[in-house]
Amino acid sequence: MSKSIAVETRAARKDYGTGTHTVRALDKVSVSIDQGEFFTLLGPSGCGKTTLLRLIAGFETPTAGQILLDGQDITADPPNLRPINTVFQSYALFPHLSVAENIGFGLQMMGRPKAVVNQAIEKMLALVQLESLASRKPQQLSGGQQQRVALARALAPQPRVLLLDEPLSALDLKLRKEMQRELKRLQAETGITFIFVTHDQEEALTMSDRVAVMQSGKILQVGAPRQIYNHPVDRFVADFIGETNFLSGRVAAGRATLSSGEVLPADVAGHAGEVTFAVRPEQVSVCAADASDCLAAIIVDTVYFGTDTHCHMRLGDGTEIVARLQNAPSGEIGLARGDAVGLRFEPGALQVLAQ
Ligand code: ATP
Repeated sequence: MSKSIAVETRAARKDYGTGTHTVRALDKVSVSIDQGEFFTLLGPSGCGKTTLLRLIAGFETPTAGQILLDGQDITADPPNLRPINTVFQSYALFPHLSVAENIGFGLQMMGRPKAVVNQAIEKMLALVQLESLASRKPQQLSGGQQQRVALARALAPQPRVLLLDEPLSALDLKLRKEMQRELKRLQAETGITFIFVTHDQEEALTMSDRVAVMQSGKILQVGAPRQIYNHPVDRFVADFIGETNFLSGRVAAGRATLSSGEVLPADVAGHAGEVTFAVRPEQVSVCAADASDCLAAIIVDTVYFGTDTHCHMRLGDGTEIVARLQNAPSGEIGLARGDAVGLRFEPGALQVLAQ
């Protein structure tokens, strides 16, 4: 059965300002987000993530294009008529209301009967595991607990879609990891479509069903985390999602070669001319300098990281390559600066990118 689309943007454009001072925050963004999906907008600061979220929420009107919810054009609908809620980085809890009152606030404003509101509060308190703190005020809670209240408040009216704008960025690393798992659990239990904004690539890869990578107001690639990590469409995506080595070369007569002439084991179907090869550090291995089918390199540095060591090498043409080598139980990898070695790429590891 094909999945139904919850949110769709069609050629959405957003310009801020007027005349010569116009900023194009979004440029022809067309994306479809499935019902029940954990979908992440990922990109560097200023690429337009928040603007896209604000268009979906209705806080901003697109300069051109449409926003659809469940197939209906909602472009002109005000935020309060959209069954969409937002969780902000700042939580934005009401300081004078208790945890329970904060959670019930939205439903109360919608005029729901008291019994219905109370039932929803109970359910949400259990969902975010804050039953024992129902009567506390927000300032009596830790950052993580406040974030749970903000989530419970946004989920209480059972929106069709929950928008989350960098909701974890105010938390310290340990709590952030805990809340990442918590968010995944909440999404799975409620089945609500989550659209999550982050500039943290690891967060995007670990949490999402699919990720949209954005740059300068455009979506460059949409795909499952593995797809984006292993098959980035261009250099920007490859570089933004994890560490990547780049090598300049060319494809001619079905063969991939480095600029220096060595042949590379890359699948070159569909490519010709000058290209960039991309390879992840964990897909580079080091072998003896005189081993067959390897590139000659000199080690310029080794950096110990506990579970692995990053081995920086230089090829004959000056290109630097990093290999992430797993450490032996002794912690030694037996390589040192100045060693002449060979390096190999795992089968299928080299991606060919258009320049
Ligand atoms: P961040 O991760 O820093 O929050 P972002 O990817 O969410 O960034 P947006 O906040 O959507 O990016 O901003 C996209 C572009 O639009 C930026 O160049 C920003 O300066 C500009 N912009 C955003 N809001 C406004 C506004 N109200 N008026 C003018 N320009 C704006």
